[in-house]
Amino acid sequence: MNKYWEQDIKFLPGVGPKRAELFNKELNIRTNEDLLQYFPYKYIDRTKFYSIREIDPSAAFIQLRGKITRFLKEGQKPKERLIGKFSDTTGTIDLVFFQGFKYVLANYDLDKEYIIFGKPNLYNGSINIIHPEIETVEKQEQQINSSLQAFYNTTEKLKSNYITSKSIQKFQNNLWRDLKQPISETLPAYILAQHRLIGLHEALFNIHFPQSIDALKKAQLRLKFEELFTIQLDLLKQKYNRYHKSNGLLFSKVGDNLNTFYSKYIPFELTNAQKRVIKEIRKDLGSGKQMNRLLQGDVGSGKTLVALMTILIALDNGYQTCMMAPTEILANQHFHSIKKMLGDMDISVQLLTGSTPKKQRTIISKGLMDGSLHILIGTHAVIEDTVQFKNLGFVIIDEQHRFGVAQRAKLWEKNEQTPHVLVMTATPIPRTLAMTLYGDLDISSIDELPPGRKPIKTIHYFDTKRLVMFGFIRQQIELGRQVYFVYPLIKESEKFDYKDLEDGYEAISRAFPPPRYSVSVVHGRMKADEKAASMKYFKEGKTNIMVATTVIEVGVDVPNASVMVIESTERFGLSQLHQLRGRVGRGAEQSYCILMSSYKLSEDARKRIDAMVNSNDGFEIAELDLKLRGPGDLEGTQQSGLAFDLKIANLARDGQILQLARDTALSVLESDPYLTKPENQILVNTIAKSKNKEVDWSQIS
Ligand code: ADP
Ligand code: MG
Repeated sequence: MNKYWEQDIKFLPGVGPKRAELFNKELNIRTNEDLLQYFPYKYIDRTKFYSIREIDPSAAFIQLRGKITRFLKEGQKPKERLIGKFSDTTGTIDLVFFQGFKYVLANYDLDKEYIIFGKPNLYNGSINIIHPEIETVEKQEQQINSSLQAFYNTTEKLKSNYITSKSIQKFQNNLWRDLKQPISETLPAYILAQHRLIGLHEALFNIHFPQSIDALKKAQLRLKFEELFTIQLDLLKQKYNRYHKSNGLLFSKVGDNLNTFYSKYIPFELTNAQKRVIKEIRKDLGSGKQMNRLLQGDVGSGKTLVALMTILIALDNGYQTCMMAPTEILANQHFHSIKKMLGDMDISVQLLTGSTPKKQRTIISKGLMDGSLHILIGTHAVIEDTVQFKNLGFVIIDEQHRFGVAQRAKLWEKNEQTPHVLVMTATPIPRTLAMTLYGDLDISSIDELPPGRKPIKTIHYFDTKRLVMFGFIRQQIELGRQVYFVYPLIKESEKFDYKDLEDGYEAISRAFPPPRYSVSVVHGRMKADEKAASMKYFKEGKTNIMVATTVIEVGVDVPNASVMVIESTERFGLSQLHQLRGRVGRGAEQSYCILMSSYKLSEDARKRIDAMVNSNDGFEIAELDLKLRGPGDLEGTQQSGLAFDLKIANLARDGQILQLARDTALSVLESDPYLTKPENQILVNTIAKSKNKEVDWSQIS
């Protein structure tokens, strides 16, 4: 765009340096263009004028035209208020002010025609409007005409400096008034024509000053499409380019290790879903192109076995594998389950975490460098610079959303050759989100649980039923089962949360005394070796109750544990609840998830609990979670460091537009993979521009 758009907003009439600084700090708006791209969050119809007689007191907003006939003060300080009697030809209402009397009295004249806008209230049987917007008729006529009034989000800080939605609207008004040239287009004409999208200039104008509802809808469609299309085009272009350029390692052999494992060691028959995804992965590994695949599967669907079999393919082709998990507990568990499955096969596996002693590290380093160590499993310790491989060919990242972008990228850089990458996640991701978050990855889904699993029964109890719940737990323990109690923990250091767990632990220890019962505890404040010891006791059945915070959320596998009690359920997100529930139901016994909550439940909390009680399907739950929380809050997206800064599109609602955007991006790239055709030059700029501002989506993989 031109100079006008790059101009600092402090030069925009009405803004000035002080407000500019606030805009900058509060909303990250620096230039005219930033302001232009700051979209309203809602619109209110201002075509309609009510007459006072016909005011509907339940209306959200009304607009009146009339005169203030007199001002009077009512009540005593500090409850004093200023009343403006406002009349049109059909009646009179009160405009009520609790503050700013001086301003009101100085600025609004009696018997002058004003337009009043605000929310009507019913007070003592008559209607009033508190702190209405007041504007002269002339002034409103100078404004850019629009039939819907745009409302902009502001912050407390802005409001306390008198920058309201209305002021932002005025600045938008000034922005457009001084505009000398039309805004240049960012999409090729053929794409606009193909999808009947309106031009950018028209869209931006109507997003701020909708000329009609229809015009607003067209503007939204155009801008949402552009936003999603640009992301998709960028992601898919990376994927294409990688595919065409990169010489992936060729894992063409099906060797002894895989065959031996498959014929002699595999502990059970693979499910069809496991077979299918292994086939998909094998195809990638044998294609000569680098694999970048996301493996998603509900908790307990058997991803570890799939991972192991693909590790064996790498090994059969002479390559080492590195597997990274987000916590020590998980890394530990992967290490032990993989070691166990490999039995006495001649394959060397080591564990590397933050608490691995130095001596052991030296041994690991040596094994990695001389190639005698085949599989390294660990936490982020594996990406430290000192960890060097002889021949790293395969990287597996479990529970990917917990790793930062930069951390993940580091694993790639370990070698001259780019290893194949398999990302595993047990948080099923709604399709729209997957397309955006992992748009440049191929996706495999294990959509089937191993046979013989009984669906987990989920029950909701209010806290008053605690004794009933305890009774049930005793019964289960009598049957030889083990039980989890989980307490919410948002940040591992929060004292408050920790106290919940401490109190809970005490109460549980009292209700389940030794020698019949024994209780383990695991929380984020414990040292890694203490945690591991505690987990080990529970896993070996030496304790029958595990009291924990969400550190046990991911991946913990104790098949004999058949009851998951979740405390303060209302404080958990839906996907997280589902994750926790997935810790049980791993053995042959009927398993239970008990959701404890207080009586006071917000509407959303109630919906989450209902969803849990009614559904065991991770994908269904994930979709609902997306709807309830919006993508910005969705589990994982926060930790991933990936701000979901979509300006206008909404992944929960705009699935169809996203699909259209993705299909369009695919067809553009099919005919012009490097975007070299003249008609696509405009897209190269559009992508570059969007990347300057936004998250670098390509880094996600
Ligand atoms: P995920 O990591 O996908 O949550 P796991 O790999 O931990 O799941 O597997 C869950 C449980 O199911 C483990 O106890 C595992 O041994 C078992 N399992 C995996 N695949 C099968 C299968 N095909 N048949 C029976 N049990 C299986
Ligand atoms: Mg797992």
